[in-house]
Order: sequence, then C-alpha cells, then structure tokens
Amino acid sequence: MASKEMFELGSKSSAIRDLFDYGQKQAAIVGKENVFDFSIGNPTVPAPPCVKEAIEDLLNTRASVEIHGYTSAPGDISVRNGLADFMNTTYNAGVRAENFYMTCGAAASLTMSLKALVESPEDEIILIAPFFSEYTVFIQNTGAKRVVLPPDTTHFQIDFAALEHTITPHTRAIIINSPNNPSGTVYTADTYTRLAALLTQKSKEYGHPVYIISDEPYREIIYDDMPILYVPKFYKDTVICYSYSKSLSLPGDRIGYILVPDEVEGAKEIYAAICGAGRSMGFVCAPNLFQKVVLACLGKTSDVAVYDANRQLLYNGLKDMGYECVYPSGAFYLFVKSPEPDAKVFSEKAKALNLLIVPADDFGCPGYVRVSYCVDPDMITRSFTAFQKLIDQYK
Ligand code: PLP
Repeated sequence: MASKEMFELGSKSSAIRDLFDYGQKQAAIVGKENVFDFSIGNPTVPAPPCVKEAIEDLLNTRASVEIHGYTSAPGDISVRNGLADFMNTTYNAGVRAENFYMTCGAAASLTMSLKALVESPEDEIILIAPFFSEYTVFIQNTGAKRVVLPPDTTHFQIDFAALEHTITPHTRAIIINSPNNPSGTVYTADTYTRLAALLTQKSKEYGHPVYIISDEPYREIIYDDMPILYVPKFYKDTVICYSYSKSLSLPGDRIGYILVPDEVEGAKEIYAAICGAGRSMGFVCAPNLFQKVVLACLGKTSDVAVYDANRQLLYNGLKDMGYECVYPSGAFYLFVKSPEPDAKVFSEKAKALNLLIVPADDFGCPGYVRVSYCVDPDMITRSFTAFQKLIDQYK
C-alpha cells in the first residue's frame, strides 16, 4: 500500500513539532501571551529590505519567463558567477560558477551531498553530538551507517581523543555544523586545525579521503565579533552546504547552495554525482526568482543585533536564576543543562508552566534542553517568572 520505511518516517512525530502543536492548543485555552514557546528555530527577524526591493525590481523589470521559467538544473549561471565572485572577494575562496549547485535550502544541500558521496551501505557518516536531528533522516536516505561521536560537554567543540577511534576505514564523511544547532557554539580556528590534521592523517592511513560536509545555515549569525572561518582553508576535502533560510530569514522560500571547490579530491566526479542526486530526487532548478533575489542581496543579512540582544537577555537571565547554560557564540539557540538527569522529565515540568523547551535527546545529547531565542524579546522577559518557578523546584 505504501513504503513501510516512508510511512514510519512520515507518521512519527518529533519532539519539536509535538511541543509546537501543544503550544498552539494551550494558547487557545490560557491565552497566547501566557504560552512561552521556545521550541522552534523559525527566524523572527524580518528579511533585510534588499529582499523586498529585489523582488519588486525583478517583477517590474524582467519578463515572466526570465524569472519564473526553468533555469539550468544547477542554477542560473549569472547567479553562480555572482556567488563565486562574492566568495572570492570575501574569503579568497578561488572558486568558479561551476563549483556551485543552487538548492532548495540546507536540507536539500545535505541530502544531495550525502547521496553523492555515499558509495556503499558499508559507508559510515560521522555526526558530532549535539547535532541537527534531521541529519539522521538524510543519512538513512543514502543507506549508509550513522556513527555518533559523543558530545564534548566541557567546551562543545570536538572530543578529538574519541574522534580518533570513531574514524574507521569505512568513514566516508563527517558532518560539522558551526555555528551549531542546538548548542549555539562556534568552532575555533584551533578546532578546525586539529580536525584537519586528524582527517589528513586518517585519509592517508586508509588511502581515501574522509570528507567534511560543512553545514553552514548559521554562518553569518555569529556574535562578539568572532571571525567567520572558511572551512576549505583548513581542510581541502570540504563540501559546503549553505542556506539562506536563517541569514536572510527566508526559510519558506527554499534557497541555498552546495559548493564543491576544485581542490576537493574527486571534485569533478562529486559535482557530477551531486547533479545526479538532484535528478534522482527532483532537486533540480532551485526557485528561479529567489536565485536572483539572493544574488541581489549578496553580503546582506537580517539584523543579527536583534538575536544578539535576545541572546544576552536570555543567557544572563537564566544564569542569574542558577541555570547552567552553554555560552552561545552563534545561531539562535541557548543550550541549558537539565537540573535532573532526564531532560525529557525536565521539559515536561517546564511544559506544565507553559514553557516550551526541547529535550536534546534527539540531538544526541541527553541531559540538556534547547531554548530557541528567535522569539519576541518581550516573551523572553515575560517567561522569566515561569523559568524561576521551574528552577525553584530543584532548590
Ligand atoms: N541544518 C541545520 C543545522 C539547521 O538548523 C537547519 C534548519 O533549522 C537545516 C540544516 C535545514 O535548513 P533549511 O531550511 O535551509 O533546509
């Protein structure tokens, strides 16, 4: 009747969706202003003005077929040329239009890159906990094995001693995500240097490259003047998966790209396999209009200062109450240690106070919750009474 695997995937609810739905129902009972929903990572800062301006300009000045017709499968060549110039100017990347494939956001970028890289069911893909839970689904789609590296709960960087034993001759790739969802941490130059050294050594030892898939939808959402580091400068065998969902607040418009620099071992074959993955999964020709919108907005972002203000408000507020929080350097998530071992029980206690926070078990990091602060700042302030009541239960 239907694919058992797909049926199960489509029928299973997620902790985030459950909480979000609960919040909607509770709002109808106790009032929207009394529900503090920190469950979802949906950008609340509006897209920058250049987005609306570009849309209006394109609609007013271009022929319908030019902005609504098919582009080539990997994307409009003028868009990819513009992207290459931007990456070369900003990161000295040394890339060309032909290194880019325009996609429907990071989910498509990741699914296609994984599909292109995985050669056999024996292949292993390493995830570093805590990780974006959908990676599991994307890996499942390729038939490869998911291998989870336990979290470094001291710094939320990478536990290199453990990673050394996690890489095997079957390791095909490791997915990294900095700034990170859900921990909010940002990898340091030292972390990239050590990762590159280890992967280079292992690639040599096993006679084939261990690729990095760098998932970067939060690349520009970074605080405290931290530098944005271009991962291929540290490790050449890096495929970048990017999305404008967060940086331009365009998650509903489904636009991003995959970048395979020429230096990547087997770059030509991998790029061709990405084109094949696009064909096989129907991810050809990302939305034409939005390819052109992002070209017009290169280098622009939504107002990150709004997220920064939320970050400081929430982090300082919860720290003062006695919560143990991971210092957030990027993205828009605060990672909080559960005051009891089972974060699911803690999240249920929060729920009873109409405080919706996500247990991190599905992110591969039991004992923590994720508090999403892409929310109305006023809600953060109003939620403090509930957060205080919650922590008081443990005093
Ligand atoms: N990767 C990470 C780390 C994310 O947090 C998300 C979305 O929240 C995605 C990928 C998927 O992003 P997109 O909406 O561009 O598919």
